Amino acid sequence: MSLSDYKGGSLLGEDLVNSVPEIKQYANVNVEQVVNVGSQDISPAHWTKLANRINAIFAHEPKVAGVVVTHGTATLEETAYFLNLTVKHDRPVVLVGAQRPATAISADGPLNLVNAIRTAGSPAARGMGTLVVMNDEINCARDVTKSNTYRVETFRSGELGFLGYVDPDQVSFYRTPTKRHTVRSEFDIDASGTFPQVEIVYSYVQPDVAMIRMLHEKGVKGIVFAGSGAGIISQVEKDAVKEILSSPPESRPIIVRSNRTGNGRVIARKDFDVLEMIPADNLSPQKARILLMLALTKTTDPADIKRMFAEY
Ligand code: GLU
Repeated sequence: MSLSDYKGGSLLGEDLVNSVPEIKQYANVNVEQVVNVGSQDISPAHWTKLANRINAIFAHEPKVAGVVVTHGTATLEETAYFLNLTVKHDRPVVLVGAQRPATAISADGPLNLVNAIRTAGSPAARGMGTLVVMNDEINCARDVTKSNTYRVETFRSGELGFLGYVDPDQVSFYRTPTKRHTVRSEFDIDASGTFPQVEIVYSYVQPDVAMIRMLHEKGVKGIVFAGSGAGIISQVEKDAVKEILSSPPESRPIIVRSNRTGNGRVIARKDFDVLEMIPADNLSPQKARILLMLALTKTTDPADIKRMFAEY
């Protein structure tokens, strides 16, 4: 009955679906176990496997209305955004998780799962990109983030809000994502599951820039700053970025500025533009990292990557 003791990945997808007989009222569900790990251990290779499998299902099985992915909540938003950019079909992909363990009193997983399946089967969800359904609310993959460690209402889309409700009578949408995704995405993934290395550096008062130098020496292809305030960094960090700029072009990572506040845009500004730092708009650092990883599979041209950060 514990609400916190937890061993991830101990139930199979088949067990989850069989434990909720109500699902049969809404859909015929085929279950596939793609991976079974706690979401803190998800890798880009898992993302690739999942995206390729979903693309194959949509390409070959016209009767499938949509796909639901059960996922641990810790990194659910990252997998959701990756799929939002790499699934090439307009049928819904819905990620769902649970805040309380399946064995806990008032577990939230069963109803979340029913609501995710109802959303995946809803014609209204077509063309909305990848969605996250938890706590009767529908969020878009790009904006949603886990906002609280233990509350069931943890998945929030910040100030922009969620897209719709899943109520007893119907699935209702009130708005639609405007940024490029799925059928309008330019990103393709190969089977290798490997991506250019991109790391995140968190800004705070008086950071040691040894980490930035170390990443550069290691040869990472991208660095995303989780900047403070409006996506800014300190003078010592700027100096470390200047050092990178003075190195040979082939060893320079692309550097992106996101912000740690959780809301609002990071915009172009002269003092950072001269350092060739690309603004991440309002993407969280972890989502800016995913976009940069995918962008770097296509190009290393800063102008083109800047365009992508404005469009996705
Ligand atoms: N299973 C959860 C996840 O995959 C992690 C639960 C926990 O250990 O706190 O995100």
